[in-house]
Amino acid sequence: MASRKKARIPRVGFVSLGCPKAASDAEQILTRLRAEGYEISGSYAGADLVVVNTCGFIDAAVEESLDAIGEALDENGRVIVTGCLGAKGTIVQDTHPAVLAVTGPHALQEVMDAVHAHLPPRHDPFVDLVPAQGIRLTPDHFAYLKISEGCNHRCSFCIIPGLRGPLVSRPIGEVLKEAETLAAAGVKELIVISQDTGAYGVDVRYRTGFAGGRPVRTRLYELCRELGELGMWLRLHYVYPYPSADDLLPLMAEGKLLPYLDVPFQHASPRILKLMKRPGDVDKVLERVTAWRKAVPDLTIRSTFITGFPGETETEFNELLDFLDIAQLDRVGCFAYSPVEGAAANALPGALPEEVREERKLRLLRHQEDISTQRLEAKIGRTLTVLVDDIDEEGAIARSQGDAPDIDGVVYIVDGHELEVGDFAEVTITDCDVHDLYAELTPMRAVP
Ligand code: SF4
Repeated sequence: MASRKKARIPRVGFVSLGCPKAASDAEQILTRLRAEGYEISGSYAGADLVVVNTCGFIDAAVEESLDAIGEALDENGRVIVTGCLGAKGTIVQDTHPAVLAVTGPHALQEVMDAVHAHLPPRHDPFVDLVPAQGIRLTPDHFAYLKISEGCNHRCSFCIIPGLRGPLVSRPIGEVLKEAETLAAAGVKELIVISQDTGAYGVDVRYRTGFAGGRPVRTRLYELCRELGELGMWLRLHYVYPYPSADDLLPLMAEGKLLPYLDVPFQHASPRILKLMKRPGDVDKVLERVTAWRKAVPDLTIRSTFITGFPGETETEFNELLDFLDIAQLDRVGCFAYSPVEGAAANALPGALPEEVREERKLRLLRHQEDISTQRLEAKIGRTLTVLVDDIDEEGAIARSQGDAPDIDGVVYIVDGHELEVGDFAEVTITDCDVHDLYAELTPMRAVP
């Protein structure tokens, strides 16, 4: 009997650039590809075509994305482009006319349509099987959970609303289901992301959705309350200092939500904030920070700032340094203003030379170093629960509740060789530097 020739499994290469939101889009595409029986190739040569997930946030990211597309075209020749750069006019097609298709961000169906058109799936029920939690780009023990797409704000330095559109919240039942699946797969830490996490549900007027047959409002408080029941560390990014953030503090005090807030303040001069089209009541913000710390003394506050915004005077920059002195933030990231193509702020008068923007950035970071170090020094001698991210010859590398992956510091456990990635451990903090803590295991280290 003649044997039937089996069709070769179609293989897709995947290159993903950009922020956690882009990574989350990538995970959804990879999950669908695997669910439809495509194999993911680790090399250009082994792939039938390559999907490049791009970033278009700042000029450097645009260049990096265009280079990545060029490399994929050189090495493979058949390339589909998705992500933020795809929403920026015809820059991709103009630079690389040979690409097969271009979509914007958050365009799962369009990407799949393009893949189907250029590389039809092979029908095989066995390769359709994928893990229930989908394909993730993060390690097994933590995962990003995207709760909405787009943004209703119009910050003058930002083009994201133009790229990703207005706020669209995911149905709360769908978000909770995804979180339950991740918990069942062994994820220990869930990191909630969006462009504006506090605004979750605004677009649907906080309508009541359903989770496991129960009515639940589409609102951040209810979402965190429900997620907090799943037993994972729960961390929020991109929460704005609006009154709704105050509601989250009781959940932190109850241990349902990590005592960690990532609040992008961006500046502290009322005039600059107004030009940025962001809330400008700095005194209110400081009052709020004080009240948060009173309610949850262990709260870690992370923020980001922009230096050298058009027209920023030396006095206004110094207002920002004074704000840092008063706010005593734990972690601070800083960008020198970058005139992103298409941003309204580029038309403002008083553009500053790059050296000034960069010099102020360095000055801000140096100024914050002392504050961050002092806040870490206050932890020396304390016992903390940490989550292990990595093991190397010098011990274990973990994070405390105050450290988000990739952007904050780590906890080096000098005697943690026998721990495993994904373990929780109790450690005693022995030392620190500007960003990181050093620790030893406390006796009875294992946390069940
Ligand atoms: S910077 Fe402003 S406009 Fe841009 S995503 Fe954030 S809140 Fe929205």
